[in-house]
Amino acid sequence: MEESLAKNKYPAYKIKAALAAPHTSLAAKFCTPEIWEKYKDTKSTGPAKWTLARAINSGISHPESFVGCHAGDRESYDDFKDFFYPVIEAYHKGFSMEQGSDLKGTASERMDPTKITVDLSSSAQAKIVSTRIRVARNLSMFPLNPGGSRASREQIATLMAKVYKGLKVGAPQLAGDFFLHTTMTDEQRQALIDGHQLFRGKDRMQAASGYHEHWPHGRGVFHNPEKSFVNWVNEGDHLRIISMQNGGDVKAVFARLSEGAAAIEKGVRKETGVAEGDEVFMMHPKFGAVTCCPSNIGTGMRGSVHILVPKLIASIGFAAIDKLARERNCQARGSSGEHSAVVDRIDISNWRRIGFPEYELVQDMINCANFLAAEEDKAPELKVACAPCLPFMALFGSSKKANPIAQANAMQAAAEKQAASKAAQAQAAAAKKTAMAKAKQKDDEASAFAKASAEQVLLTDAPAVEEGTSAAADANE
Ligand code: ADP
Ligand code: MG
Repeated sequence: MEESLAKNKYPAYKIKAALAAPHTSLAAKFCTPEIWEKYKDTKSTGPAKWTLARAINSGISHPESFVGCHAGDRESYDDFKDFFYPVIEAYHKGFSMEQGSDLKGTASERMDPTKITVDLSSSAQAKIVSTRIRVARNLSMFPLNPGGSRASREQIATLMAKVYKGLKVGAPQLAGDFFLHTTMTDEQRQALIDGHQLFRGKDRMQAASGYHEHWPHGRGVFHNPEKSFVNWVNEGDHLRIISMQNGGDVKAVFARLSEGAAAIEKGVRKETGVAEGDEVFMMHPKFGAVTCCPSNIGTGMRGSVHILVPKLIASIGFAAIDKLARERNCQARGSSGEHSAVVDRIDISNWRRIGFPEYELVQDMINCANFLAAEEDKAPELKVACAPCLPFMALFGSSKKANPIAQANAMQAAAEKQAASKAAQAQAAAAKKTAMAKAKQKDDEASAFAKASAEQVLLTDAPAVEEGTSAAADANE
């Protein structure tokens, strides 16, 4: 933890530096000396016993943060309301905590594809590599992960293993397998990261929030055989429920998400015995879904397309594309998610998460993709290779006939195939290792040693915090 925060002292020097940074984190902006004085000895009334010092650690340790603060439990948002409410209102522009949100129906009811009244243009469709929509959800019976323990994380993973098993009967069309990070091989993990199904980890701002504590215990990823229904367990939020597929069939992705989120909720209710009418997912009366980072509260939904706009990247650059997206209630991210570089595709998603029904947020994303596709069509032809476009130049060559989507998909398919074969090899090696380890088990001393070394490996395998400075950081989501 940042030194002065660890001593429960106002981090005056760091806050001054953060206020002077080009992006002033919301944590630094709203943690004034008065607010600090008011809350410095307060502990949240929920299970995390959260403190303001822990809440603002990521923003203070990393002044380039955009949000820079996290909740440790549902109660944190109200127990530190004079700090968190202004942060929420500043991030979710136009939202008033006093008025709150009055969305009708359940999230799954609002995720009704027939309510989407706009379509992707044919130009946008032609440029879209893939579509992904996720919701962040936390289980009402546990503290949020920044305020959780190894035990709470492991209990969540054990519970979710039962829920996923239950899908085989309750929702077989969504069923699949659950993999724990404690037993996954590096190759398996990398294959999922390369396929965009798994978080990359190693984010120093997330590390400072407490997301990575006790890694890899209690962390896992579930997916169906097609990898179109994916769940992250305990990355930051307890659950990220994800629907994704190649191409631009946004409605199909949205429909699967709706069905999946409902099936997970039903499964958790069954396994925990939470009564009908009581909350399975943590909800706040004013804003809806509770998440660790204030940026995700509300719907917890981020709907995105990966879109190919090489001419725009070359002519105006990523920052200008992001600006255009923001003017349309959307945002741009790099090719591998938040805080990642633009290699070829750009991730365009809804920026707002609160106070609007999920289908409207998806419409924001569709409108923005249509707009950017039209801008791409108008942009000057590529002449000189710019750094972010080099992979494109390689893709396009000089042939105008080349189909970038087909090529991007082919590249992705090849990468996935390679990763899958690597994973299969690694699995065979792991099976061999297990067999050998079993044979060894007869010798008590040897087996104790193996266990100790295995634990050592797991510890050193923790997602190390990335060194150096990154591009201007966005939300810690
Ligand atoms: P989240 O908001 O869920 O935390 P991140 O920005 O951390 O998302 O990205 C997580 C992963 O999801 C990354 O690998 C990213 O490339 C992938 N991803 C995001 N949008 C899409 C999309 N439309 N198609 C395929 N993969 C996507
Ligand atoms: Mg993320």
